[in-house]
Amino acid sequence: MSKGILPKHFIRVAASNELNYAESALEHAEALMISQSFTVNNRMAVQRGVEKYKKPFLIDPETYRYFLAFKHHYKGTKKNRKIRSWLSKMSVHFPEEIKNNFGKKAAKVENFDALQMLEFCQSNIELQTSLEHKDGSPLLPIGIVAPYLRISAEKINSNLLFQTQVISTTSKINKSDLPVIGVFYISRDILSRENLLKQVTQSIRELDCESIAVWVDNFNEVDATEEELTNLRTFYSNISADKHILSMYGGVAQIMMMYNGLDSITHGVHYQMHKDGLANGGTPAYYFYVPNFRQRIRTIEASAIIRRQNFLREEYLKKCCDCPSCQENISMQPAERIFSLEGNESYIVKTLTGHFAYNKKLEINNVLDLSKEDYSAWIMQKLRDFSITRDEFEYSDKIKSWLSIILDVEIYENN
Ligand SMILES: [Zn+2]
Repeated sequence: MSKGILPKHFIRVAASNELNYAESALEHAEALMISQSFTVNNRMAVQRGVEKYKKPFLIDPETYRYFLAFKHHYKGTKKNRKIRSWLSKMSVHFPEEIKNNFGKKAAKVENFDALQMLEFCQSNIELQTSLEHKDGSPLLPIGIVAPYLRISAEKINSNLLFQTQVISTTSKINKSDLPVIGVFYISRDILSRENLLKQVTQSIRELDCESIAVWVDNFNEVDATEEELTNLRTFYSNISADKHILSMYGGVAQIMMMYNGLDSITHGVHYQMHKDGLANGGTPAYYFYVPNFRQRIRTIEASAIIRRQNFLREEYLKKCCDCPSCQENISMQPAERIFSLEGNESYIVKTLTGHFAYNKKLEINNVLDLSKEDYSAWIMQKLRDFSITRDEFEYSDKIKSWLSIILDVEIYENN
C-alpha cells in the first residue's frame, strides 16, 4: 500500500459566504474541503465556485450528526428549535436507518445490515461524484471521503468496527480512480486515554487505505494539556508510516506536528479549529491573527497591542506581517487600520481572511523548509520582535510550551 499524496493546506467551507471568502484564502492555500450537506443544498453555487477557483477539492460527508442523539439534529433553543434542514435534505440519499430516524432518534450502528452498509457507502460516493462543469462534464474531487461517525470512548469497539467497515466497503465498491480517504473523528477524552488511542491506532494501521483525516472533537491547542499534545503527536507518528494524514485543525501547535508525520492541515476562512461537532451556530469573525502570538485576537485588542509597538511601515512589514493585505493597506497605519477591521463588510472579511491564510501558509512552508531548531528560532524571533506586557505573557508562555512539548526545543531566556 503506497502512501497517498494530498495538498498540504485545505480551506474548509460550509456555506455560501465562506465559499465567497475562500477566494482570498485560496491565494495562499492549495485546496478546498467542502461540506457535503452544503453541496447537496447549494449545488449550483458550489459548482460555480469550484469551477472559478480551479483548485483541487474534497467533500466532507459530515454524516456524524445522524448518529448523535436526536436533539443534535436540531438548531436553536429547546423552545424554538428547527430541524437542520440541510442534513435533513441529505438524509434522503441515505439508507432507512438514517432517512427514517433523522429528527427522531440517533441512527444506530447495530441496525445497519450488509445492504444498508452498502447503500450508505454507495450513496456517499454518488453524492461526491455528481458535481458537473458548466458543459455537463463531471467536476470531480481529488478523492472520495468515506462517511463517518463520532467515535466515543464508551462505545469504542462497535464504533471502530463500524468506521473501519465503512472505509473498507467504500474502497471495495469505489469504481473511480479516486483514492478513498477515511475519517477518524474521535471524542477528545480518547486523547488522554492511551489504551483507547492505541486501539484507534491499530484500527487505522490495519486499513487498506492511502489517506486518513483526523478530527479530535472540540480540540483546542490553547487549552490542551501537555498529555493531550504529546499523545496526539505520538498518534500521528504511529499512523503515518504508510498513510497520508490530514488534520481537520490548523493551529500552529498542530502544524508543528507536521514534523511528526502529519501531512496536511485544514482550517476555515476565519477559524483555526474545526468547530465542536455539537456546536450551534458560529461567532463573528472580528479577529486579527497576530502572527507573533500565533493566535486570533479581537481586532480592538490586536490594534492596541500593535499601537504599543510604534512600528513604522517597514518595521511592521518586517516584524509583524508582510502579506499582500498588510503590504497594500495595513502597514500604512497598522494600529488604525486593524482597529477599523471590525464589521461584516466584504473588504474587511477579505482582508482578515487573506492575512490569516497567508500566515498559515508560512507556518506550513517553514516546516517543510526548516529544521526543528530553525523553526523554533523563527517562531521565537517573531515573538521577540514584539514588546509585550505582563498581560500578554500568556501568549508567549503558550508558544514556548508548544515548542518544548512538540518540537522538543527548550527555550532559555533571562527576562
Ligand atoms: Zn498580513
